[in-house]
Amino acid sequence: MTVAAPPPGRKTSRAARAAEPSPGALAAALLGWYDRHRRVLPWRAPPGVKADPYAVWLSEIMLQQTTVKAVVPYFQKFTAAFPTVRDLAEAELDSVLRLWAGLGYYARARNLHACAKVLVDRYGGVFPRSVEELRALPGIGAYTANAVASIAFDLPVVPIDGNVERVLTRVHAVEEMLPAAKPRVTALAEALEPSDRPGDFAQALMDLGATICTPKAPACVLCPWAEPCLARRRGDPETFPVKAPKREGLLRRGAAFVAVRADGAVLVRTRVAEGLLGGMTEVPTGAWSGDHDEATSLDHAPDLGVARRQWRRVPGVVTHVFTHFPLELLVFVADVADRIAAPGGMRWIARKDLAGEAFPSLMRKVIAHAGIDLRPGEAPSGDAPAHAQKPDPTKTNRRRR
Ligand code: SF4
Repeated sequence: MTVAAPPPGRKTSRAARAAEPSPGALAAALLGWYDRHRRVLPWRAPPGVKADPYAVWLSEIMLQQTTVKAVVPYFQKFTAAFPTVRDLAEAELDSVLRLWAGLGYYARARNLHACAKVLVDRYGGVFPRSVEELRALPGIGAYTANAVASIAFDLPVVPIDGNVERVLTRVHAVEEMLPAAKPRVTALAEALEPSDRPGDFAQALMDLGATICTPKAPACVLCPWAEPCLARRRGDPETFPVKAPKREGLLRRGAAFVAVRADGAVLVRTRVAEGLLGGMTEVPTGAWSGDHDEATSLDHAPDLGVARRQWRRVPGVVTHVFTHFPLELLVFVADVADRIAAPGGMRWIARKDLAGEAFPSLMRKVIAHAGIDLRPGEAPSGDAPAHAQKPDPTKTNRRRR
């Protein structure tokens, strides 16, 4: 191979075209590399073995916006609890959310459960084999449908995620900005895809992007496409893909209230099923808004019949970054008597049961900020938690695979 395959629509000289590797040669080079260097992953079938569509689907849903390292223990827990799609369909949503807690983007867990039910009700627990039918299932978009279709059923489609976009925009030095360049990237992928091993080709592209063609300092000397790669030849691979500047959401602020009974139980409630963090457990909070006034924070405290002065502000704030906006929460803590009843829509959770609740990462940060240890089996060290813990503002910064 001496030069790159041309991007569709870009003119090249006759001499250059004569020296270009064919799409077939590019695909063969990538598949040869994949045969030697493929990652061993718990959801990936060994060479020569048919992939399990359930494992492919589950892993692809979990991997959205998340790394392989973060997903592996969740995948193992899920498949131990729900070995088949039928087991998942028959489970209570709450038990699915509990196992998902900490993985983020909780609408995925609700859709996962809804999708399993449809698969059982409509397809007898067997995944349909067409992209169109897969796309019609809850929570399955274009990427996931293509991933299941290619990896599990060897259909000739390419799932295009951030890794694949990075590799292809570099190999062809695509100057057009993403997301406008997506149709071009799709055309490039389709032009390269071989007819005999589409599933392996898709996984090879994913692996190349995850292990060699990384966002920073790509290991071009180890790359099977080093020779034809235009970005490497130009010497600026890290400048691809070219992306439109991100629009940051406006900062929202609010207050969270951690009420702790004398026996260690903590007051919680369940968020409404739809929307952000739907169906997850939380400690009570006020509204999250751009103009939150700290002076009025306690107006939103749960009605436990305690004096306002019993709510103590924990120094610092808890920060969290959702997809569309960053959030800062003030945390207030109150110690209350055993006899205090939970207000309507709320409940007390015994300390020993806290670790098993479906708390999203944000709430785990809030509870830790209040000085409560959520690790399983960790009992309180005394009657009241240590509330004066220093804040540890953390931010979510997840990159897929
Ligand atoms: S040569 Fe470098 S920049 Fe080009 S595809 Fe390979 S790793 Fe990426």
